[in-house]
Amino acid sequence: MAKESRCIKILKNEGEMTRRKLIEEGLLDNSLKPFSDECHLYIPVTGDIPGAATEIFEERDISAPLPRHELIGGIAIIQDCDRDGARRLLDSRPVIHTVLYSEGPVTGEYRTKDYIVLAGKNTTKTDYTEYGQRFLIDLSAAYFSARLANERQRIAAMMKDGERLLDMFAGVGPFAITLSGKCSVVYANDINPAAVSLLYDNIRLNKKKNILPVLADARCLGGIFPPGSFDRIIMNLPMKSSEFIDIAFRLCRPGGMIHFYTLQSEPGEMEEELGKYECGKISERVVRSYSPSQHHAVYDIRVI
Ligand code: SAM
Repeated sequence: MAKESRCIKILKNEGEMTRRKLIEEGLLDNSLKPFSDECHLYIPVTGDIPGAATEIFEERDISAPLPRHELIGGIAIIQDCDRDGARRLLDSRPVIHTVLYSEGPVTGEYRTKDYIVLAGKNTTKTDYTEYGQRFLIDLSAAYFSARLANERQRIAAMMKDGERLLDMFAGVGPFAITLSGKCSVVYANDINPAAVSLLYDNIRLNKKKNILPVLADARCLGGIFPPGSFDRIIMNLPMKSSEFIDIAFRLCRPGGMIHFYTLQSEPGEMEEELGKYECGKISERVVRSYSPSQHHAVYDIRVI
């Protein structure tokens, strides 16, 4: 159905900024679809704004539910390539500046995904706040998942002051930055230069003074640090952590702890592998489900 409405006519490149302002001021008419001509965008508004024009707009189906999404800062990631749903999602909350769709799972050594921008600003960068810490993120350049927020808090709660921490696969720094308040020093390592560059930004942003970024293949860490250098080691590379477990055991001091993340189908799948090392108590828990047949698990391993 078509309907006449008051609207504002703006240049196309001002569309995103104006749309956000209208949402913030409660003036965007979400029941009608904006349209464009060659240069201009026509956005329907609910009130009579000075300079507003009148145009005919198509009505939206506002009863349609919003697509399921994961929100990271100002980016919403949806599971289907649904442009109309993406647009409705974008208009539903001022905090969302971009809606992305990912065609596939995380891939490659850097564990990144390729994204398609379905609506909003043409970017994969955002600013995300987790328990008071800020993170600059670029989803196409470096791995980030907000789903591990509670896991980071769980580890922080079990730490003692003054620990020496190694994060072997640090990404843009969520574990390193969250845990640094309990540490004398944190070494945060990653093989992806873009991740380490964002890690530097995030260290500065959160005014951290005790985190040292390292750009290296974790296989080299055994040659960089003497044995027993760390009280605690984070190993969040679930597909491949087991390839690095011997290095983690070498670098963790007796009495220290390794947090070993893995993907498994059944509980206890890693017990036999871990049994080859000098382990004290091992406790295992599910972090989240990963696929219908696999879950993301963590083994907290006391080294003896
Ligand atoms: N810990 C971060 C987080 O929770 O957001 C990142 C985890 S992500 C699953 C794994 C990270 O390991 C990626 O940033 C990737 O670049 C890094 N990585 C993969 N292989 C590596 C290697 N051989 N040495 C060091 N880092 C590696």
